[in-house]
Amino acid sequence: MADSLFVDITTPNGRQYQQPTGLFINNEFRPSSSGQTIVSLDPATDKPIATVHAATAEDVDAAVQAAKAALSHSTWKLLPATERGQLMGRLADLMEENRELFAAIDAWDNGKPYQVALTEDLTEAITTIRYYSGWADKTFGQTISTTPQKFAYTIRQPIGVVGQIIPWNYPLSMATWKLGPALACGNTVVIKAAEQTPLSILVLATLIKKAGFPPGVVNIINGYGKEAGAALVQHPLVDKIAFTGSTATAREIMKMAAGTLKNITLETGGKSPLIVYPDADLEQAVKWSHFGIMSNKGEICTATSRIFVHRSILTTFLEKFKEAIETTSKIGDQWDENTYQGPQVTRAQYERVLAYIETAKQEGATLVTGGKPYTPKDEKNAKGYFIEPTVFTDVTDDMRICKEEVFGPVVVILPFDSEEESVRRANDTTYGLGAAVFTTDLERAHRVAADIEAGMVWINSSQDCDPRIPFGGVKQSGIGRELGEAGLEAYSQVKAVHVNMGSRL
Ligand code: NAD
Repeated sequence: MADSLFVDITTPNGRQYQQPTGLFINNEFRPSSSGQTIVSLDPATDKPIATVHAATAEDVDAAVQAAKAALSHSTWKLLPATERGQLMGRLADLMEENRELFAAIDAWDNGKPYQVALTEDLTEAITTIRYYSGWADKTFGQTISTTPQKFAYTIRQPIGVVGQIIPWNYPLSMATWKLGPALACGNTVVIKAAEQTPLSILVLATLIKKAGFPPGVVNIINGYGKEAGAALVQHPLVDKIAFTGSTATAREIMKMAAGTLKNITLETGGKSPLIVYPDADLEQAVKWSHFGIMSNKGEICTATSRIFVHRSILTTFLEKFKEAIETTSKIGDQWDENTYQGPQVTRAQYERVLAYIETAKQEGATLVTGGKPYTPKDEKNAKGYFIEPTVFTDVTDDMRICKEEVFGPVVVILPFDSEEESVRRANDTTYGLGAAVFTTDLERAHRVAADIEAGMVWINSSQDCDPRIPFGGVKQSGIGRELGEAGLEAYSQVKAVHVNMGSRL
């Protein structure tokens, strides 16, 4: 039982703060109606960080009712769009002021290195809110002439109450990807964080109130997917669901959303290919392909986890890839400045990754390096969820390690002989999120980028992501786009108003 709505916490890197633990509804924290809780664990030490309240269906209803009331309340509905943008700008400023605190919480809760959280996650989170603050007063309709007597105009309106469900791999920045466009378009929101990383979003809640958002505009809850998540998806007053997480859960969400024919946006998993052609700059290809799967401990939906290398350069590429692991992938806890790879987010995720490694061995893949838990040197991290960066070769396209998303520091490296073969095999997947192409042949780069079935393609790079650029998948990697101008589509709808000026004729 979380016995208080705030607890005093000192992070391992010495930051003292008050961690809210309640459900943020109508700009106030409240306890869960049933008293049920979620315990957040430090993945490096397996020790609890804090216990937070977990929402029941009744609590979800309270949050949705608050969002519904705020939608039609004049303080939000009649707020000029420019002022809506200013509120968001203020929120971005407050996040900036708390950058170090947010980075410490997300590093602690998720297991990523503090420096990465500070410089990458927080930059992305703050920039996303700032970027969308600028869009708030720039979403216009059109005027369309039809006959001399008639014309029509369109207005772009919010969708209404938006339910948002986020994962644990980039806790705060995933929240901002969802909140930014939803608020810019004038919706109200109930957002549910992942049970693995419940903490930073509650601190964000305090800043939402401080920035001046009216009560009920942003409601933030923690809760279990099958209970709170499902209640949100099925709630009749929720007009839209935006989800990021596994393809299996997305499938459940689609089914549940069908009951009320809800608008949905889904960003799910991937098994993204990275293709290295013989004319590629090999140093660059190795650098980015290592980053594309080993950064963030491989817990990246767009991880380039299938590396196709032209047979003529396979041996050299493999040697250099192993070297990159040895020189770069230093494993350690979140607070060691040298750490590149922290612990997996939870014991469940750690066991899932290790199980995939065992399956790959049983299926006959050759283990090149890694393939087992990593034992940290520091005694305090002895129970941490660390896994060695792992590379498999001699993998066939039908092996599970080549088909299924592992979501860990595990990669398969596959030879190919022709461009046609590389594209055909890269596309031989139910997923279609990211893809990377390494070549110095300009024509080939753009030809392959066009032919690959993916929502995003990187030429001579991997994992580039920017709030201005649309993000999303094709096939079973998702529906709809986040970020960029395209992200506004997911949170606004067009109304056509027909005008008849012909009454005097
Ligand atoms: P998940 O899909 O179970 O959880 C993601 C979010 O959905 C969480 O907030 C969770 O509470 C919620 N949820 C779960 N079941 C729900 C339901 N029935 N109704 C409504 N909401 C529900 O993902 P996970 O278990 O955290 O991770 C499992 C796998 O998902 C990973 O191994 C990885 O393959 C994938 N994943 C993908 C991403 C991504 O960015 N695309 C992020 C995290 C995990």
